[in-house]
Amino acid sequence: KRVHSKPRIFLPHLVASLEQVDVTYIMIKPDGVQRGLVGEIISRFEKKGFKLTGLKLFQCPKELAEEHYKDLSSKSFFPSLIEYITSGPVVCMAWEGVGVVASARKLIGATNPLQAEPGTIRGDLAVQTGRNVVHGSDSPENGKREIGLWFNEVEVIEWTPAQAPWLME
Ligand code: ADP
Repeated sequence: KRVHSKPRIFLPHLVASLEQVDVTYIMIKPDGVQRGLVGEIISRFEKKGFKLTGLKLFQCPKELAEEHYKDLSSKSFFPSLIEYITSGPVVCMAWEGVGVVASARKLIGATNPLQAEPGTIRGDLAVQTGRNVVHGSDSPENGKREIGLWFNEVEVIEWTPAQAPWLME
């Protein structure tokens, strides 16, 4: 028998268990908090089946907002973006799951809420890019980086939801 022979049977449960578990930083921006959308937005990630590992209401200092959005510092809207993000409390969240970064971006929808599909958070709940209610990390690397930026170590909790065996086989 050849050493390289592989089983021909497709085993989706094995494939799923080998897929990478990622983390993403999701933030309800000040407009989402002021408009009373906190519960609505959290519930979309919760119902999807992702695991909440960090959650806090937080008044963001200017320096942190600038660090978080440093890649956009040359944009003309940067000063108003920093003013917006620091204008009132935000809700900071860490979510974990297989494919959570890309999936959360889909749940959130396009940056411009008028172009975001109905059914997405921005598509359903917002009308303007400058007031698009929620942030989500754009890559697994940035997910880790942003959680490290917004949370202390003790604020991110390792736990196993009771629903875990009912969510994934
Ligand atoms: P996303 O949040 O969808 O990842 P970007 O990383 O491109 O989008 O931009 C970060 C945030 O900067 C946006 O969510 C939005 O709040 C703000 N922003 C982006 N483009 C504009 C713009 N043209 N005018 C005002 N604000 C903008």
